[in-house]
Amino acid sequence: MLAVMQITERCDLRCHYCYLPPASARDMPLALALRTIDRLVDIARSQKVKDPVSICFHGGEPTLVLARVARVMAYARRRGINDFIIATNGAGLDRKMVDYIVANRISIIMSVDGVAPAHDHQRVFPDGRGSWRLVDRALDLLSEHADSWAAGLRRNPFRFRVTLTPASSVFLARTVRYLAAKPLARHGYITLVPGNYPGARWPEYKELLKLFRGQVEEIKGLFRECDLAGQPRPRVCLNECLGAASTSLGYLTATQAEPFCGPGEQVMGVSIDGRIYACHLRAVNCQEKDNDLYCVGTVQKGLSQPLQDGLFTVLGRNPKCSCLYWNARESGLPETPVRASAALYEAWCS
Ligand code: SF4
Repeated sequence: MLAVMQITERCDLRCHYCYLPPASARDMPLALALRTIDRLVDIARSQKVKDPVSICFHGGEPTLVLARVARVMAYARRRGINDFIIATNGAGLDRKMVDYIVANRISIIMSVDGVAPAHDHQRVFPDGRGSWRLVDRALDLLSEHADSWAAGLRRNPFRFRVTLTPASSVFLARTVRYLAAKPLARHGYITLVPGNYPGARWPEYKELLKLFRGQVEEIKGLFRECDLAGQPRPRVCLNECLGAASTSLGYLTATQAEPFCGPGEQVMGVSIDGRIYACHLRAVNCQEKDNDLYCVGTVQKGLSQPLQDGLFTVLGRNPKCSCLYWNARESGLPETPVRASAALYEAWCS
């Protein structure tokens, strides 16, 4: 069971598609974070969860509160949890932090939106400077340890998360080639996530399909080059919400892709104020208007059966709900109202 915990809302970046209120300085109180660990242990026991509990520290930017993260991890280890992930923007990862991550066997999910023009278009500091140069350096620092780091972990130590926007999608093939060249790519996945944020002006479906088909053809060319050279293909997953799509793409790339999401099944999210959500994306994004629908309990009181029943009843009746995974699972792919995800999926599979 993977629990995504929003440990802070602070962030040193101001990405154009950010889901948080700008310049928020809220942290999850330490007492609440520790209580969250207790609650997760209880839930795993009471629901007889087979897989060990994993914690993903999310933000904001968790490395800004690394001392707090370290205290929560130490407590979690005492409660039998030993698998940790930090979701980071990478901009502040220096050698000391990288050494800490590797020594403590922590996995990393890093948001890297691609080559410099793609990344710097949208992942910026408050003064508008792009963060690519720092992120690229962090990738190289982590790459220095790639093999030994991977050897100490039961999961892949690394995942690149690439948020695609209308502006960055034209760089998709260059982006995959760039990330695949990093030694870290041998030990992880490149996950492509169309950013379906308010204000995203995606072209019409036909135009999008043409764009993604062109990019995907180039990526398949990279796969052929790898095959000819006798090297493994880079592992690419599509949109983390579309578990079924990831599986299909895993087939396409002849690798084992991990469906990441599963509302109320494999994944849950805990928000900064201790609300438990069936969908991890809802836990970190407090601005979605139908968030309440996904709330299934609180750290203080535990899971609520009526809330859980309500979620599944409502979603089951509403095939156009905004949960991509639910749409995918219930209706076959790609029945989703989000055309960028659908077009990317169709381009991969055609
Ligand atoms: S790194 Fe994440 S939390 Fe920070 S500004 Fe970007 S999207 Fe928002």
